[in-house]
Amino acid sequence: MIRKLIRKVFSKARPKAAQHAQPKIIPEKKHGVRHSQISSCAIKVTAELQRAGFAAFVVGGAVRDLLLDKTPKDYDVATDATPEQVRDLFRRSRIIGRRFRLVHVMCGPETIEVSTFRGPAAGAADDDEDDGRKTRHVTSESGRILRDNVFGSQFEDALRRDFTVNALFYDPSSGEIWDYIDGYQDLKDGVLRIIGDPRTRYQEDPVRMLRAARFAAKLEFHLDPASRAPIAQMGHLLEDVPPSRLFDEILKLLFSGHAQRSLKQLRAEGLHHGVLPLLDVILEQPMGERFVTLALHQTDLRIKEDKPVSPAFLFAALLWHEVLAISQKLESAGERQIPALYQAMEQVIQTQVEMLAIPRRYTTNMKEIWGLQPRFTQRAGKRPFALLAHPRFRAGYDFLLLRCESGELDMELGRWWETFQHGSDVQRAEMLQPDTGPKKRRRRRKPKNAAHSADTADLAAED
Ligand code: ATP
Ligand code: MG
Repeated sequence: MIRKLIRKVFSKARPKAAQHAQPKIIPEKKHGVRHSQISSCAIKVTAELQRAGFAAFVVGGAVRDLLLDKTPKDYDVATDATPEQVRDLFRRSRIIGRRFRLVHVMCGPETIEVSTFRGPAAGAADDDEDDGRKTRHVTSESGRILRDNVFGSQFEDALRRDFTVNALFYDPSSGEIWDYIDGYQDLKDGVLRIIGDPRTRYQEDPVRMLRAARFAAKLEFHLDPASRAPIAQMGHLLEDVPPSRLFDEILKLLFSGHAQRSLKQLRAEGLHHGVLPLLDVILEQPMGERFVTLALHQTDLRIKEDKPVSPAFLFAALLWHEVLAISQKLESAGERQIPALYQAMEQVIQTQVEMLAIPRRYTTNMKEIWGLQPRFTQRAGKRPFALLAHPRFRAGYDFLLLRCESGELDMELGRWWETFQHGSDVQRAEMLQPDTGPKKRRRRRKPKNAAHSADTADLAAED
């Protein structure tokens, strides 16, 4: 009864959106997704829930991707069973999450996320009642949802999802797709449309704006004009989002396999100001743009080839040309090369983390990659051997190659290191350049300027 009322009030509040309290049911012969395409774990989980008398559907990105003939990254299941009821059904399962409480069910190496149908966001903020089906729903001053554990009907669950194409339910046992908001039609039309009133939905969760950019790029969908329009004025709301969540979402975007297109879309929506504030400056210089484009392109390729990708490496690449620009400025003002580089690194990281907090484990790694770069130009004496033995040699070398390939450095340097690292002891010895570098200078200068040369040697040989 109460749920019926909520449903009525809720659907009246959004008269423009296409919503159907009764779903349109699309049979297998129309949509074409076959049972054999579904992960066996998702089939097992939905079947088991249904056997126990609950409703259970594959939902979200997996249904969308299957319909688009893409392989789903992971599977989500939605059910009317509570998290406790789900957990009690599966031996290998556990309840996780605070913002959303859900259950992870494991089969072999696979994990399926099972969430209970959730109710509408609006109007539930002061609902204190906890009758076992409902828990509290909390919003921040700006309207952002902090916790969202109000259970609801399947229809309500569809409405609280982000985009119409992400709100389709697939039942593996009947082969049917249930569609409450014309997501199937949008998918066929290649339209990405936010569910409900766009302003309200971005206010509730500003991350949806980033997701809009990501999905539009990944799916090559057209962002519906009404869903797009408010983003230009609402991007600043991203400041209100916890940094760790923002960082997770940006990683998803950068490692979607469509980083190049996603970043372009992010800039087209003006959303990069809040997450990568230095990007404009970097992309304004042709060399900077070439370097970033190459880094993104290589990341996309590695993802397609199932090769590992490193967030630190990619962030180091995205910001490198700003590091270069600042350190060159410091050098022309009289600073020495290595201290100039280290100061530039600090400045760039500082500006970046004010907007998007990159976790320290990554910034440490980024600084190592950057800090190794001057050492690649030292090709005499023992130094190349020390660099080869450095635990971050590989990342530093890959970064060097990117610099060579983008035209910043002569390709000869990259090739030298390629041969040197794979060469025999004899070959390596033959490759070394005459030792006319800092060592001799240091000896000459020692009596006059001991402090200066010791300092340079320390930095150059740093770890
Ligand atoms: P992918 O996994 O390919 O990145 P996805 O659509 O599966 O895409 P997830 O982050 O895995 O994205 O989320 C699963 C589903 O949960 C989404 O399809 C959507 O229905 C819902 N969802 C996720 N994030 C939000 C959000 N911020 N607001 C509303 N619904 C969301
Ligand atoms: Mg997913």
